[in-house]
Amino acid sequence: MKLSQRSEAIVPSLIRDASRYCAELGALNLAQGLPDFPAPEFLKEAARKAIAEDHNQYCDSWGLEPLRIALAEKYARDNTMAVDPETEVTICCGATEGLNLALMVLLNPGDEVVVLTPFYENYKPNLATVGAIPRYVALSAPEWEITEAVLDEAFAGTPPKAIIVNNPANPTGKVWTHKELELLGRYCQRYDTWAIADEIYEYILYDDAKHISIASLPGMAERTITVNGFSKTFCVTGWRLGYVIAPALVSEGIRKVHDFLTICAPAPLQWAALAALEAGRDYYTDLCTLYQGKRALLLPALEKAGFKPIAPQGAYYVWTDVSILGAKDALEAAYLLAHKAGIAAVPGDCFLPEGKGNQSMRFCFAKRDETLIAASHQLAEFALIHAR
Ligand code: GLN
Repeated sequence: MKLSQRSEAIVPSLIRDASRYCAELGALNLAQGLPDFPAPEFLKEAARKAIAEDHNQYCDSWGLEPLRIALAEKYARDNTMAVDPETEVTICCGATEGLNLALMVLLNPGDEVVVLTPFYENYKPNLATVGAIPRYVALSAPEWEITEAVLDEAFAGTPPKAIIVNNPANPTGKVWTHKELELLGRYCQRYDTWAIADEIYEYILYDDAKHISIASLPGMAERTITVNGFSKTFCVTGWRLGYVIAPALVSEGIRKVHDFLTICAPAPLQWAALAALEAGRDYYTDLCTLYQGKRALLLPALEKAGFKPIAPQGAYYVWTDVSILGAKDALEAAYLLAHKAGIAAVPGDCFLPEGKGNQSMRFCFAKRDETLIAASHQLAEFALIHAR
């Protein structure tokens, strides 16, 4: 039997594949982007309470009203965005559903969407699901700078229907500057192109990096769909709690599709998420300090192993060249690392357009310090043996 073209177009996730063989080999998992440490106690308590109080049935499909209101307040406070909780916020099952909703309401088969590379693995299968076509435009390491030349290439010919703005970016950790966002805003307005902003890592920032939402720029709220969620900021990737912010007309479409796709996001966890949004400034500063420390454990370990890591400005991944391993490509390098060093990381292939081999890998440091220290030792030992 032949499955649909839609299904045939999708290649299984290399990120999850790495987690699978990691478990089989008993290796350390620096592959999939999820913390291996506990979620905050106050959140777990709020979730237990919500279940005990019997918030266990479907709730408002658009999302609990108090949660939508709290999100509008967050956006006013942290993102300088004026958002109407009645008509512009939809709570869904993870930013992953959010991104799919955005693509489903915006695109028709054949529409082109700019994807800056390296890109988050999901974009490719998600675009394939709606029959849209990625227009890959490469950014250059180590700054991944958005220049006029980059945008001229991205908008050449028939203007793209949309561009995905992943900020901070997975896997590179790039944080867009105000100047870059402004430049993109001008192109989007000139060519009537939508921005799809994936801002799931907005609170995970290093050094003096500052996160700015593209929708907060003049003229952009009306042509931006912002996708976000609780997974990364509150260390609850398994709760599957995300949301989409879009102009009322677009949100109407998003709500229709969401209602028939998943009805609503988990109701008790939406109640618990209210507690998350009550967290004070300290929560967010502590989060950055926590990950800054973890970045400081992983980066030197990768350097000592002879890799060429690029320090991320945000999110919790390191993108690095691993050609010192002498493997024929990143897939072989990943195999070597998993089997010989006991460390799973993600080969660059799923973050790059198909075709060329590459020598890049992504390491995740949302891991306990013990995990990262053990990984450093294993890497050092491996590098020593491998160098001989
Ligand atoms: N966003 C996470 C990552 O990039 C998880 C993705 C996944 O499970 N496929 O690793």
